[in-house]
Amino acid sequence: MNLVEAGRALAAESARFAALGWMRGTSGNLSVTLGRDPLRLAVTASGLDKGTLTETDVVEVDFHGDPVSGSLPPSAEAALHARIARVARAGAVVHLHQLAPVIAAERNPGGIVLRDLEMLKGFGRAAHDDEVRVPVVPNSQDMRVLGDAFEAGFDPATPALVVARHGVYVWGADLEQARHRAECLEWLLRFVNSVQGTDTPGGFA
Ligand SMILES: [Zn+2]
Repeated sequence: MNLVEAGRALAAESARFAALGWMRGTSGNLSVTLGRDPLRLAVTASGLDKGTLTETDVVEVDFHGDPVSGSLPPSAEAALHARIARVARAGAVVHLHQLAPVIAAERNPGGIVLRDLEMLKGFGRAAHDDEVRVPVVPNSQDMRVLGDAFEAGFDPATPALVVARHGVYVWGADLEQARHRAECLEWLLRFVNSVQGTDTPGGFA
């Protein structure tokens, strides 16, 4: 996939996520891995409405999340995308500002446990007898701090990271798989929030 093809795919996926309310304002960012030696990613450009991106609203970045060429600034979070692409060997990473993971992290700061739910299959895990713990890390504006926290809790079987009071990163072999996993995880976390909400006095609605 070249940068133009990547830009086209990222714009289409961003529009889909924006329509779901998962990239409000100019929040969130998506990436695809263009190459591994050296590591190169195509990342959505910073500060743009994710509902109206075009194929040129994309930046090629390196191992550190720094731009390789072009004049558009990459997302500030590009460095974490690059780290996830490297450590998890992800082909695509989606970073979304969904509400469900943030509420779930508020209640489960040590990690969100999921098991015995059919939708876990869409997240790449088993529907029965497979305990999944989605890691939660504190928010930071320093991508190295976030990256270190991600790597410390990384489990190759769990393709997601929740950043408390911020949002979620979900990854997969390609954009479609990352999207499917993000959709299923959102359902799973809404379920957890609903179940826990009934037991939490003064909790979130
Ligand atoms: Zn964010």
